[in-house]
Amino acid sequence: MPESVATIEAMVLETFPVGLLQCNCTILGDEEAGEAIVIDPGDEIGRIERRLLELGLKLKQILITHGHIDHIGGALKLKRLTGAPIFLNENDLPLLERMAEQAEWVGVPTPETASPDETLADGANVGLESFPAHVLHTPGHTQGSVCLHFVPLKLLIAGDTLFAGSIGRTDLPGGDYGQIIDTIHSRLLTLPDEIQVIPGHGPVTFIGRERKSNPFLQPH
Ligand SMILES: [Zn+2]
Repeated sequence: MPESVATIEAMVLETFPVGLLQCNCTILGDEEAGEAIVIDPGDEIGRIERRLLELGLKLKQILITHGHIDHIGGALKLKRLTGAPIFLNENDLPLLERMAEQAEWVGVPTPETASPDETLADGANVGLESFPAHVLHTPGHTQGSVCLHFVPLKLLIAGDTLFAGSIGRTDLPGGDYGQIIDTIHSRLLTLPDEIQVIPGHGPVTFIGRERKSNPFLQPH
């Protein structure tokens, strides 16, 4: 279909690590519509804003996979610069109250945060009209962790739930090892092999590769 080809040609998909903990921040844009979303603007907001300006894209949504400082730390700053609303699953609101504590763990100044404008509820649809995403609530790393499944793009933005060859840590407040293993099996490994995964840190991978070789996910 020519229309979908034109859409893919107009797609901007850029992922780059930001901040001390090198959180993967993603810009997904539609050059035809002149619109974009940003996922996990943890830090380096000036760089993110500059890139949006260079691309000529207006920011529509700021989507946060979970409430850890390295993923949400720059969200309010980006909202103030662009006017875009912030989306976060409500189960991570308690982590926002602990931002000073989180900053201390990492050894960075406490960023200013605010309540999100919208929740990222399980089953909700977010993203751009041309590049919609389905929200999968995947608790375990934190209670409000979500993955964003861009179904037509065969793409999953996984936050800190699933990494290439690893899974998110569960020793921080709100973490639960049994829960993250369950949620990865029931919500993520049920997706097709060819789904590309952009994790919250480190290199991209695929659902099929993780199902086959991730040491945390093998049957016993
Ligand atoms: Zn995290």
